[in-house]
Amino acid sequence: MKPFIDPDELWNYINNTQSSPGRVREVISRSLDKKRLTLGETAVLINATEPDLIEEIKQGARELKKRVYGNRIVLFAPLYVGNRCTNNCTYCGFRVSNRMAVRQTLTDPQLVREVEALEDNGQKRLILVYGEHPVYDAAYIAHTVNTVYAVKKGNGEIRRVNINAAPLDIDGFRIVKDAGIGTYQIFQETYHKDTYKRYHPSGRKADYDYRLTALDRAQEAGIDDVGIGALFGLYDWRFEVLGLVRHTNHFEACYRVGPHTISFPRIQDAAAASADLRHMVSDDEFIRLVAILRLAVPYTGMILTARENARVRREVMKFGVSQIDGGTKLELGSYSETINEEQDLNKEQFKINDPRSLNEIIDELLEDGYLPSFCTACYRKGRTGEHFMEFSVPGFIKRFCSPNAILTLAEYLVDYAPPATAEKGWAVIEDNIKEMDGQKMIGEVRERIKLIKEGKRDLYF
Ligand code: SAM
Ligand code: SF4
Repeated sequence: MKPFIDPDELWNYINNTQSSPGRVREVISRSLDKKRLTLGETAVLINATEPDLIEEIKQGARELKKRVYGNRIVLFAPLYVGNRCTNNCTYCGFRVSNRMAVRQTLTDPQLVREVEALEDNGQKRLILVYGEHPVYDAAYIAHTVNTVYAVKKGNGEIRRVNINAAPLDIDGFRIVKDAGIGTYQIFQETYHKDTYKRYHPSGRKADYDYRLTALDRAQEAGIDDVGIGALFGLYDWRFEVLGLVRHTNHFEACYRVGPHTISFPRIQDAAAASADLRHMVSDDEFIRLVAILRLAVPYTGMILTARENARVRREVMKFGVSQIDGGTKLELGSYSETINEEQDLNKEQFKINDPRSLNEIIDELLEDGYLPSFCTACYRKGRTGEHFMEFSVPGFIKRFCSPNAILTLAEYLVDYAPPATAEKGWAVIEDNIKEMDGQKMIGEVRERIKLIKEGKRDLYF
């Protein structure tokens, strides 16, 4: 396969694209017209450095989010299953050369206990995370996915399991697909090959091309919900943004479907880790790059994690984020056992900066007027490419997304929320019902809320 990332091409866009106020406005309005931006158009936004223009880009992203997606935020939690790893990513606490790392793979009973604890908090969507090691092969990943789906505690159940794990071959991806996963995420870390080589000196992951083509193999295996990402801080953020857009248009060209989600983790402290500080991304640049990505790929889900602190998350969320994690713990086994309050970096991949509970996060979302959602309806109804449908099918959000967000929030309020959060939650539900069109739909939603209060679960459109 011809490599689809050409560093000269990307640098050429960055170095030679003019960015006037008129051009920036044209590009923003193309995005608001629901067009995925080209590399050249994205470079116009990247090269806008005047504070007023940056503000216009941020407002454009805000407007796009409001217009296209409304105020829903989907919640999930990461679950680390095993941290054995044969790679040596220099920024990661699990790197093989970190001899102090405490290695662990959850046994089945431990995995079940972790899932029960997550269900007891109200979680419905998980992403399972693994190091790269021969023991975490496709059959093992599929086994853990099946184990997670089988855990039901009280009214709790996990309705969507996503994966963040090493690249597989096509047969391996088929095995994992058959276990009923949602999204398979693999971050390229950096799209810049020479930089990639420095940060990934040994192990399977040292092969840039094998990683870059991983999600093509997933697509070949029939997994069309794939998540891409770059680890910001390894190389120039402008290059990484264009890399993500290039990866997106590669998928569109080859499979006629873009990535399901884009992630933009910023590098955090980790045990025994080393990173070159030259490319660290400031908070202002981070907000800027999130807004640019939102405008560049308007139909894709955007994930912001607890790597960022609560203040940064609250701010960045305004500019186009659609999913966040809540109640996140990285130490293996720590959802079911109270371990140290302080993170022990030899047991965790990196430092997180938003350790708040799921309920604290939901409470803040409600305060800020968001509609927290645990919806998994599209995936379960076989409506894959749901972000694209939300975005492109008129009325899709009103018919499916908002009602399903309301119903999953109602379940959470009845089963898990303390009274103060429940009160705020029901008020937000009322506000959202008022915004819905059509007496029939409103009637159906109210009827289902009544059923939820009577004990029925898992009602969706
Ligand atoms: N071992 C698999 C792999 O490398 O693809 C699983 C992924 S890892 C457990 C999840 C992601 O965390 C990595 O792809 C990387 O982008 C990110 N990550 C690793 N070290 C990090 C750090 N120090 N700070 C922030 N994110 C980090
Ligand atoms: Fe292993 Fe993933 Fe950490 Fe690299 S980022 S050392 S592959 S766990």
